[in-house]
Amino acid sequence: MGTSAPLRPEAELRVTELTFLATCPTCTQERRQNGFSFSTVRRLLKLGLPIDGYCGPCGQLFQLSEPDRSTLAESLLSTSQ
Ligand SMILES: [Zn+2]
Repeated sequence: MGTSAPLRPEAELRVTELTFLATCPTCTQERRQNGFSFSTVRRLLKLGLPIDGYCGPCGQLFQLSEPDRSTLAESLLSTSQ
C-alpha cells in the first residue's frame, strides 16, 4: 500500500528520429524529411501505407514514390538498431 511503481519507459521516451530524402513530384528536388520516428516509418512501410513527405519551397505535402519507398526500406535495414 502506498507503493508508487516507478513507471519509466525509458526506451519509449528516447524516440529515434529518422531523416530521409524524398523527391517532390512538383519540383522534382530531393527534400530532407524529418519528424518521423524510426518505428513509425517501419510500420508504414510494412503495412504498405502511404508516407507523406513535405517540400518547403513548394509548401506541399506529397506521397513518397515507389523508388523512394524502396530506398527508404533499404536504409532502414542497414541501420536497424
Ligand atoms: Zn517541391
